[in-house]
Amino acid sequence: MTSISDEIIILGSAGGRFHAATQLRSTGGIILKLFNGKYQCHLDPGPGAIRDLRDYKINSRLTTHIFLTHAHTDHSMSIPIIIEALQKDFAYHEPRGCLIAPTEYLESGELNSYYKNLLQTIISVNNSNEYLITEDFSIKTVPTNHGKLQNVGFIFSLKYPQRDFKIAFTSDTANFPGYTSLYRGVDVLVANVLRPDNSFCRGHLCVEEFIPLLKEISPKLCILIHFGAQMINPISGDRVDDQIKKIKKAVGPAIQVIGGKDGMHVPFLEYFEI
Ligand SMILES: [Zn+2]
Ligand SMILES: [Zn+2]
Repeated sequence: MTSISDEIIILGSAGGRFHAATQLRSTGGIILKLFNGKYQCHLDPGPGAIRDLRDYKINSRLTTHIFLTHAHTDHSMSIPIIIEALQKDFAYHEPRGCLIAPTEYLESGELNSYYKNLLQTIISVNNSNEYLITEDFSIKTVPTNHGKLQNVGFIFSLKYPQRDFKIAFTSDTANFPGYTSLYRGVDVLVANVLRPDNSFCRGHLCVEEFIPLLKEISPKLCILIHFGAQMINPISGDRVDDQIKKIKKAVGPAIQVIGGKDGMHVPFLEYFEI
């Protein structure tokens, strides 16, 4: 049993315009607490992020790093307020925090210089590169298939005393040649799967497209997020549980599959011999 209390906290398990606008499920992104709280990362803080932090009693001032995959509103909208919320106080005496985001977003002017100046570090990322975040934490960016906007998946590489550990975030993407080989060998796969069954959507994955990919990647733990209106809506209800059952039946017991829920804590190291 590990003495490291690291966890993934799902603020928002949804994505797409319906959930971004209704907040039926949140689009607040994901928190990663790493190395017993040494780093608190906030990935893709979309609409709802700041209220989610309050509701789930997560201290925004402990956030050290903000990660952005791409500049669609359901991922990026709350970046300015998260930058303000992680400052020591509201006098902003010293720059604080690190933003890791695609070059295209950083150069677009969408985030103005007022917010950029509040940050201590900005790391501008491109596809298929490696970046050292700290001495024990590096990332690799991986390509996606999600339209013209620059969009990266992230593979976090964490140097625990026992061994290196990899957590992957696919971002929004459809399948593309080489998708599975990018993620082979990761310990935890956090995958954006927008739609149920075989409901195709350009630039995204549905459950039946994802199943063979997951089998091939074969991580020990897979967490699904970024559910869209066809997964959860007021008319046909919440289809996440039956879709997770379908995936589990198809991939077998060697892969633990979790359907993300708002406010869910996943102490991911407990699934591993660490
Ligand atoms: Zn999205
Ligand atoms: Zn998107």
